[in-house]
Formats: sequence, structure tokens, C-alpha cells
Amino acid sequence: SEASSDAAGGTLVMATNAEFPPYEYYEGENVVGIDADIAAAVADKLGMELKIEDMAFDSIIPAVTSGKADIGLAGMTVTEDRLENVDFSDTYAHATQVVIVKEDSDIASPDDLEGKKIGVQLGTTGDIYAGDIKDATVERYNKGFEAVQALTQDKIDAVVIDGEPAKVFVKENEGLKMLDEAFTEEDYAIAVAKGNDELLDKINTALGELKDSGELDKIVDKYITA
Ligand code: GLN
Repeated sequence: SEASSDAAGGTLVMATNAEFPPYEYYEGENVVGIDADIAAAVADKLGMELKIEDMAFDSIIPAVTSGKADIGLAGMTVTEDRLENVDFSDTYAHATQVVIVKEDSDIASPDDLEGKKIGVQLGTTGDIYAGDIKDATVERYNKGFEAVQALTQDKIDAVVIDGEPAKVFVKENEGLKMLDEAFTEEDYAIAVAKGNDELLDKINTALGELKDSGELDKIVDKYITA
């Protein structure tokens, strides 16, 4: 934004994977979405200029740990494994993993996924959880959208993916539906390098202010219509 373009506080580099509507996706040449708006609001509060770096989802944590990026903000679920490599801010969204199937599928609940061919996005929690399903074959795609495409082409039986992008993908592709029963519940947070407590504290303070002022809800409402 104009206000932060000559900020004295330096640049806040955000690593993300802009294939994840409504959290981050391209509108023309710009990365927009809930996470992009949250990052802009946080950067503004920190007096920093925001720079968004789009990369593969599984490159985000390495970018943060190596210092190439200051934050990872990508609808990223807090997991025990990730906490070994990065620190996470307070959570800013509750999320689910859901199952997408063809409208005429015999898969009616997550229990029916046993022995099925399941598409996921590489390195996501969907990838991790699908691996736990008995006798299932997991097909990994670089983009969630590619998994959905494979489903429409009957190359796989189901896709396990985050609930909000699932809604977008189901809406954009004919003949698909989302199962009512969620596969898992999870929470999204912002990743920072381990031990970078100064930045983590500032981010948590900014997030807290955005929650208290109602600004966070406003950002979410802008992208998610009930
Ligand atoms: N929430 C999932 C995860 O953290 C997927 C995130 C994404 O694809 N951007 O693994």
C-alpha cells in the first residue's frame, strides 16, 4: 500500500503458494486472498513493506528456515512435525480437510476411502492423512487444482483437500461434490523461523489487534460468502 511503500521498517517477505483460493490465488498478476490481506494488514502495523514470493507449497518452510522469507503464510496447518522446523504464530483460522468425489460416487463418507485412489497436493496435511487410510493409493500433485482435474478425468476416486479451496474447486468444476463429513479439523497459523521471537511477538500482537478490531472477520467475509 502507499502508506507502507516507504516504510522505515524494511521488507516483510511472505512465502506462499498462490494456488489455494480463497487464501491465496492470482487475480491478474497480483496474489490476492485472505492470507495476502492479512499479511498486508500485519506489515502495515509493523511499518514494513510486504513482498509476496510465490513458490511450491513444500518450499515454504525451507524458505522460512533459510531466511529467504520472513514468514510462511499459506493456509498452513499447525502440525507437530512442522513445529520441529518452524515456530507458529497464534492461529488465525479454523479449517478442515474434506473429501471431494464425483457426484455419482459410491464414496459417501471418509470411511469409504479404504482401498481407493486418493489425490492430494504434495506435502500438505491432506497428503499426510491420506497416507494413513488403509489400502489406499495416494496420488500426489503439485497443485490441488491438478488433483481435482484428475478426479474429473476419473484418474482417481477422491481428493482430500482443505475445505475452503474445495468449495471453490467444486463450484468451478461440474459433476463434483464435497462430502458433508469433514475428514479432519485443523488450524492455520503463520510460520516464522525458529527462535525469531521478536518477529513472532510482533506478528501475534498485530494478529490480536486484527481479531479484536473485527478487521480479520472483515477480510474473511470479503473472500468467503456464507
Ligand atoms: N492446510 C494444508 C497444509 O497446511 C494445505 C495448505 C496449502 O495447500 N496451501 O498442509
